[in-house]
Amino acid sequence: MSIFDSFLLASTVYNIIPSFWQRIFAKHVIRRIPNKNQIALTFDDGPDSRYTYQLLETLAKHDVKTTFFVVAEKAAKNPNIIKMCQQCGHEIGLHSYNHTCQWFLTPKATKNDIEKSIKILQDIGVEPKFFRPPWGLFNISTRYYLKKYGLNAVYWSRHVYDWSKFNSANYIRKALTKRIRGGDIVLLHDSSYAKEAPRRTIESIKDVIVDLKERGLEFVTLRESLAGYE
Ligand SMILES: [Zn+2]
Repeated sequence: MSIFDSFLLASTVYNIIPSFWQRIFAKHVIRRIPNKNQIALTFDDGPDSRYTYQLLETLAKHDVKTTFFVVAEKAAKNPNIIKMCQQCGHEIGLHSYNHTCQWFLTPKATKNDIEKSIKILQDIGVEPKFFRPPWGLFNISTRYYLKKYGLNAVYWSRHVYDWSKFNSANYIRKALTKRIRGGDIVLLHDSSYAKEAPRRTIESIKDVIVDLKERGLEFVTLRESLAGYE
């Protein structure tokens, strides 16, 4: 077996099979919420001082509660945004320490990433209950450490590439309105490397909220939506 073959085999066992399994089959991974009259909006990759305050304002205006999957390193730099999210009634979940893909973390690094992140959030007054790995990718040890630290793995059932620089606010608005169904966990972003992408997400979300409310759907945090089902 060549070095390349060995690497490929190791990566398949350590990364690819666990990711595929957890994304599609694993019972412990939350992919939808049980109540078909509810929607769980989730915002990843923040907090971001350029966008998160504006998003909080929009959500407050429409009395909508959501879940933020935050990057711990950014949370440490912006603790006031995290506190404001909590004061507004939103849930704070963990989205890794600095958005490193779990595929590149050894078991020890996976443990350190989660442990260090929890400590940062606890210092701000957050007891995280939910974890979404960057890009939704797991390695073979992720599940073990999530269980150890009392975190539930969360995936999503709907996304529209709102992080892309190629998608306009109008596209995001139309795609979300058309595709969202009751029981969906919707993946969105309040921070991004693509210039101004979160601004387009925030611009579109207010119309989406109005439309979904007219359809009789209620917006809930993951903790609220899963209460009584765990
Ligand atoms: Zn992310």
